[in-house]
Amino acid sequence: DHGLSEADPEVCTIINKEKQRQYKSLELIASENFTSRAVMEAVGSCLTNKYSEGLPGKRYYGGNEYIDELERLCQERALAAFKLDPKTWGVNVQPLSGSPANFEVYTALLSPHDRIMGLDLPHGGHLSHGFMTPKRRVSGTSIYFESMPYRLDESSGIVDYEMLEKTATLFRPKLIIAGASAYPRDFDYPRMRKIADAVGAFLMMDMAHISGLVAASVVADPFEYCDVVTTTTHKSLRGPRGGMIFFKKDPVLGVDLESAINNAVFPGLQGGPHNHTIGGLAVCLKCAQSSEFKAYQTQVISNCKALASRLIEHGYKLVSGGSDNHLVLIDLRPLEIDGARVEKILDMASITLNKNSVPGDKSAQVPGGIRIGTPAMTTRGFTEKEFRATADFIHEGIKVTLEAKQSISGKKLQDFMKFIESPEFPLKNRVVD
Ligand code: PLP
Repeated sequence: DHGLSEADPEVCTIINKEKQRQYKSLELIASENFTSRAVMEAVGSCLTNKYSEGLPGKRYYGGNEYIDELERLCQERALAAFKLDPKTWGVNVQPLSGSPANFEVYTALLSPHDRIMGLDLPHGGHLSHGFMTPKRRVSGTSIYFESMPYRLDESSGIVDYEMLEKTATLFRPKLIIAGASAYPRDFDYPRMRKIADAVGAFLMMDMAHISGLVAASVVADPFEYCDVVTTTTHKSLRGPRGGMIFFKKDPVLGVDLESAINNAVFPGLQGGPHNHTIGGLAVCLKCAQSSEFKAYQTQVISNCKALASRLIEHGYKLVSGGSDNHLVLIDLRPLEIDGARVEKILDMASITLNKNSVPGDKSAQVPGGIRIGTPAMTTRGFTEKEFRATADFIHEGIKVTLEAKQSISGKKLQDFMKFIESPEFPLKNRVVD
C-alpha cells in the first residue's frame, strides 16, 4: 500500500500546487478558512471506509459500535459548543454540506409548492434560500417551493424589515429564512420572530457564515428566537466541509421537528453519513469550546473593524457603512469599476477575494462590489495592523484596475481580461508576485 506521492504523483503534484497557492496568497474569501491539522487527520482517517445509514443505536449495517460512539460525541459537542440544553434542542450532524442541510429542512417542514421567504441573492442571500430570476427558477428551492425573497433597504444596506412584514402579511409564507452569504450586519431575530408568529410561519436561521462567531458569543444568538438553525461547518467555525441542523425538541406549529428533520436527512435525501467528516467535526467542536477559539473569533471581528475603517479612510463606500461580523462589502460603482475586474487584478497579486453583487446591481457576472472576509487570515495570525496593510494592498489593486481600464480601448470584460494577461499590460510588473 503506497502513499500518495508514489501511488499517484499527478494528483500529489496538483495538491502540492494548491497547498503552495494557499500558503502564498492573502486568503480573503469570507466563506473560507484553514482548518487544523487535527481535523485534517480525522478527515483523512479510516472513518471514510464505514457505512452507517441511520442514527446511533438504529443502524442498517453491522460494525457500528465505534461510529455510534463518535456520532453521539459529535452531537453532544455540537449542543455544548452552542450552549444548548439537550432537553430542549437536538442536532443532526449528518448533512453533507450547507445546501443539502437547508433542503433537508425544507423537505421536513414543507409540502411541495409551500411558500418561503429568504433574503434575495443579489442582496446577500444564498442560492439555497429560494433564488430565482424573473426569467428562471434557478435554485431547486425555487423550483419545488414558491419563493418570494425579501430585500435590503437600498439606502441603508440593512434588511428592510418593514417591507418583509408587509410582504409576509400578504404572501403568508410557511417558512421565513434568516441568514446570508454576504451581509455585514446581525439579523434582527426578535423582529423576524414576531413577523413569523403573526403569519404562522416557521423561523429558520442559516448561520453558515457566522457559526464560529455565534459559538463564541461575539454576535447575536439566533437560538433564542428560531425554531431551526442550519450551518455549514467549514467557514468561520473552522471545521471540515459539512453541515448541521439544530432543531427544537418541542413540537412547533404541530410538527415534531426532531423526527421530521431526522427522516428528511435519512432516508429522505441522504444515504450513508460521511463518518470521516463527522470525526473532523467532533474535533472542531471540541476546539470551539476553548478560550483560544473565543479569542480567535474576537480577533476576527476586531480585524474586520480595522479593515473597514481603513477602507473608509481610503474613501470607499461600504454596504451598510461598516460591519458587525467577519466581512465587508465594498460598493465599487461610485468609481465606475466592477468587482470582476478588481477580483482578477488582485488575483494576479495573490490576493484572493470575490466579486459580489451589491444592492441595486444589474448583473451577477459583472457585479458592482467585492466581498472581503477576515476569518482565514486571522487563523494565520493577522491582527488589526496586518488588516490595515491588507486594506492598503486592496486600494493599490483598485487603483491599478482603474489605470488598466483606462488604458484599453475595448469596453468589454473579455477585452479587459485579455489585455491584462498580455505583455502590453504596462502595469503587469507592479502586480505579479
Ligand atoms: N448557506 C449560506 C448562508 C452560505 O453562505 C453557503 C455557502 O456559501 C451555504 C449555505 C451552502 O453551503 P455549501 O456550499 O456547503 O452547500
